[in-house]
Amino acid sequence: FERIAAADEVVHSFLETTEELALDAAARIDAAIAEGRLAEMGPLAGVPVGYKDNMNLTGTHTTCSSNMLRNYVSPYTATCVENTLRAGALPIGKLNMDEFAFGSSTETSAFGPTRNPWDIERVPGGSSGGSAAAVAAGLVPVTLGSDTGGSIRQPGAFCGLVAVKPTYGVVSRYGVVAFGSSLDQVGPFARSVEDAALALNALAGRDELDCTSQPSEVDFTANLAEGVSGMKIGIVPAFMNAQGLTSEVRAKVEEAAAALEKMGAKLVEVELPHARAAMSAYYVLGPCEAFSNLARFDSVRYGYCDPGHKDLGSQYEASRHEGFGAEARRRIMLGSYLLSAGVYEKYYYPAQQVRTLITRDYAAAYEKVDVILSPVAPRTAFKFGEIGDPTEMYLSDMFTISINIAGNGGMSVPVGLGADTNLPVGVQLIAPPFKDANMLRAAAALE
Ligand code: GLN
Repeated sequence: FERIAAADEVVHSFLETTEELALDAAARIDAAIAEGRLAEMGPLAGVPVGYKDNMNLTGTHTTCSSNMLRNYVSPYTATCVENTLRAGALPIGKLNMDEFAFGSSTETSAFGPTRNPWDIERVPGGSSGGSAAAVAAGLVPVTLGSDTGGSIRQPGAFCGLVAVKPTYGVVSRYGVVAFGSSLDQVGPFARSVEDAALALNALAGRDELDCTSQPSEVDFTANLAEGVSGMKIGIVPAFMNAQGLTSEVRAKVEEAAAALEKMGAKLVEVELPHARAAMSAYYVLGPCEAFSNLARFDSVRYGYCDPGHKDLGSQYEASRHEGFGAEARRRIMLGSYLLSAGVYEKYYYPAQQVRTLITRDYAAAYEKVDVILSPVAPRTAFKFGEIGDPTEMYLSDMFTISINIAGNGGMSVPVGLGADTNLPVGVQLIAPPFKDANMLRAAAALE
């Protein structure tokens, strides 16, 4: 906690630290050690873990980095958080993010941005920027983030970390403030594939409180040491030749492909013909689901209440105007428009059809390969304020979004520093639904 206090003066990854909860948990581990019961305390016994601030933990603030929830205190604990605590984790605190997870740089946080520990003039990525920066700064070995379009993988790449978005349904979403309920998935940040796999072991599984969660019998650490010999790795030419992909990132992905081939994997070209429409589909489906989910912050049930209004309508309007930042308002207005009569048929419905096409593309590709290798983000970490145009910011996720649309798993693996910027580069491994262990295995080979 002293290290966090000192380093976070600069990095600003934590919004709140939870000393008391951590010390209580640590005392329970100490007692177990004294009584020779450490093995009973779970696979994360004594491991400090931090949580993105859209995850509820009883008695702590859950702000989603928004003025709307500035004073909101969780009355319950999210299942993903609970699962780490049950595995023996020490809860260290809540981490900064883009407001309601809208963004790719953590610049939209109402409490100020997080800095990238590799270069404090640069963003850590987003929306789970605090979760990434805290691990990169060595403040905590494991954190949890959430990923709706790239928010675990892109900050993972920008901060040089292993960062996993599991298949939709592997981790319960109960108690995680919803952005796009059909896209959101929780996953770990860590410094090694093994640490991420151990965290995933604790996180995964069926939860009665989230009907989309699935039972999990997988030990994600089981085949990390198997290597990639005989594995078929897909390369998507359209991704490698994408406009906007910098040459240093492309070079790193090519190096990773060559390394996997040298270790006995077979490289196979696969096409995802509809993936180019993923961005368009996401910026219809995402805002529609966000609009619907954020309707609950109405100043009555939840959130900031602007005082002194005589009628409910003007209280709603003023509270939502004051409580939400610019990007959140943009998404809400977009979603509200896209779901209105006459417009819905033109955008929402076709976006759902595109979703089916992309899902089928991935299914066809997985008939030929075990995992797909691609860039995570088109470039390395950018400077604060460097990307001012929202649509340009949206392009940060050009390689990650189609995976949330199809629902399969994807992860970022650090592969060293870019030749031009000298900043961390990540490559993405993408696996078929519920074959997340395969991508972890390939990732371990690249470490
Ligand atoms: N950057 C994307 C967005 O702003 C993805 C965010 C996320 O995955 N939460 O929608």
